[in-house]
Amino acid sequence: MGRIVGIDLGTTNSVVAVLEGGRPQVIASAEGGRTTPSVVGFSREQELLVGQLARRQLVLNPRNTFANLKRFVGRSWDELDEGSLSVPYTVRCNDAGNVRVVCPATEREYAPEELVASILRKLVDDAGTYLGEPVEAAVITVPAYFNDAQRQVTRDAGRLAGIRVERILNEPTAAALAYGFDRSVVKRVLVFDLGGGTFDVSVLRIANGVFDVKATSGDTQLGGNDWDRRIVDWLADAFQADHGMDLRRDRQALQRLTEAAEKAKQELSGVQSTPISLPFIATGGDGPLHIETTLERRRFEGLCPDLLDRLLRPVQRALRDSGFAAEDIDDVVLVGGSTRMPMVQEMVRTLVPLEPCQSVNPDEVVAIGAAVQAGILTGELRDLMLNDVTPLSLGLETIGGVMKVLIPRNTPIPVRKSDLFSTSEANQSSVEVQVLQGERSMASDNKSLGRFRLSGIPPAPRGVPQVQVSFDIDANGLLQVSATDRTTGRQQSVTIQGGSNLSEEDIAVLIAEAEQKATEDRRKRADIDRRNRAQTLVAQAERRLRDAALEVGPYGAERQQRAVELALRDVQDLIAEEARGSVDLAELELAVSQLQEALYGLNRRLLSERKADQGPLQGLKNTLGSLKDELFSDDEWDDWDRPSSDPWSTGSRRYTPPPYSAPRPLEPSGYQGSGSDRERPRGVVSRREPPPRRGWDEGDPWAER
Ligand code: AMP
Repeated sequence: MGRIVGIDLGTTNSVVAVLEGGRPQVIASAEGGRTTPSVVGFSREQELLVGQLARRQLVLNPRNTFANLKRFVGRSWDELDEGSLSVPYTVRCNDAGNVRVVCPATEREYAPEELVASILRKLVDDAGTYLGEPVEAAVITVPAYFNDAQRQVTRDAGRLAGIRVERILNEPTAAALAYGFDRSVVKRVLVFDLGGGTFDVSVLRIANGVFDVKATSGDTQLGGNDWDRRIVDWLADAFQADHGMDLRRDRQALQRLTEAAEKAKQELSGVQSTPISLPFIATGGDGPLHIETTLERRRFEGLCPDLLDRLLRPVQRALRDSGFAAEDIDDVVLVGGSTRMPMVQEMVRTLVPLEPCQSVNPDEVVAIGAAVQAGILTGELRDLMLNDVTPLSLGLETIGGVMKVLIPRNTPIPVRKSDLFSTSEANQSSVEVQVLQGERSMASDNKSLGRFRLSGIPPAPRGVPQVQVSFDIDANGLLQVSATDRTTGRQQSVTIQGGSNLSEEDIAVLIAEAEQKATEDRRKRADIDRRNRAQTLVAQAERRLRDAALEVGPYGAERQQRAVELALRDVQDLIAEEARGSVDLAELELAVSQLQEALYGLNRRLLSERKADQGPLQGLKNTLGSLKDELFSDDEWDDWDRPSSDPWSTGSRRYTPPPYSAPRPLEPSGYQGSGSDRERPRGVVSRREPPPRRGWDEGDPWAER
């Protein structure tokens, strides 16, 4: 099995990690961050932006920049509350009652999972760059309290991103894996996970590498965003009272308010009061209007007591279902950025009388756990075993609209359960099976995961036919349902579709589209690379010609100099033509290779000229000269010329040689912009520009001057 990465797909930020040498490592993004903002956007030129780049345009381009998408994953329009819908971009309900995100820049609307797929794609691409090999599979974490539809849609997002989703793993379970994978202890642990948009709590027993999830509970519509919104409302209400204007109706103002609110919230985790300054937030009759205020921690806490209350029930329920009392818990592991809020930590202390464990990084622990799970799947990590549970009860609708539970919540998975049902009317030829998930007794109060029909039941009095309905939950927590008529043996089986998302056909079309786009993107990138390489080589050839003229005079190596000049002109002409869009890139590539060859000839000629001029000692000096170019940056070059800092003499300053390859001719790596061959802006005199005489008689003839 190839490399599998672990992905924490968060509401606010996402993280990717991998197991290296048996230890999980977080992989930095291409932009250098250890977390990637879960934001997707399109620039005005329709370019897809993901992560930090998308986050940067949140305020300036709010209608085309999409954050908090996880809140919409696997949810139908009817399930969304007011809070979820107050985003600066447009979401709408399509004819099938599904959520669609509207993007004016591309004039398209997207299923939330399509956009989420772009985040996954970026994460695996960054991981592939780090690992030096493409990544094709991942363990993706989801809130433990995600229902089947939300899990299915997360898996679909993985498929749309072109990766195999080897396992859907519950976030608190992942955190527990990270917490306990290298400890050989017996502990009862409560994982309290409050992220940007979801809340989970799980109770586990960890014993010598066996992770037994005992119970899990949570709220998939509660997270740090709700705390932000309280501050937004506080600011907007005060502004409305003063100026009669509702800032929440202006997308840009709303985005600025949201960012300022989140910043203030985070600062209040460390200080007692924080200033909030939003100049030019609106324009009134008398000119620009500003917000200048201060928010105290006490006041902030006073804005959200009900949010804190919503944390209580899931913790109590998880404890009750696990069979442990609060006093039985040995450790509380805090996960998710929102657990940094002092009011949240206080609340946790009142529920479990323990100082929460501080040994895990709440932002990274879930991805690390996912990487550990990936290690278990590949066999890299042995002696670890994970037994998870299903978070919500599963059943079907029976007569009178009552839900009959087949698999109660917190049943260990994988699991298979079945039961017998019958018809409610005489000669009924078909039954409809409506699959439900939730804890309420009436079917209509629970989440409908989908329905299917078993037909062809032979005529019989009411209650006589026997239909066996089986529920299978796999290790991902994904459900498969089948119904069999025991008389005829006729069977109908379905994998439950999210009900609120893309159909299999939609997914197939989108995957094909993405593959086609990927080929197109690759081709575009290769064209750009070719063009850039040609330009870099042109600059180098120009320099080399100048250097050759200095060293051997304009006619000293005439044949080779002429060859470079001619080849150079060809490439320059083709680049100019190419800019007008009228050139075949293959032709450019051919000209580039001819120029490379000509340069190689010139370099060889210069080398042999010098060898003829110099004794054997000079040859050694030349080699050292080229070493010097390899090892030192611009600043170091100056020092090299000063005898006191000669790096070869004793007492010189210490340095770490960069990865080093032997002195080499200019092609082909020479023009790829290695440290010593970097391009400088025209007209800027580099400190490495040598005085005319120095150079050839003591340095590497091919090093850039
Ligand atoms: P996560 O989903 O774990 O990345 O958590 C993101 C949430 O944590 C966002 O709502 C952040 O605003 C919140 N967060 C991060 N740092 C802090 C902090 N120091 N204080 C309060 N909330 C924070």
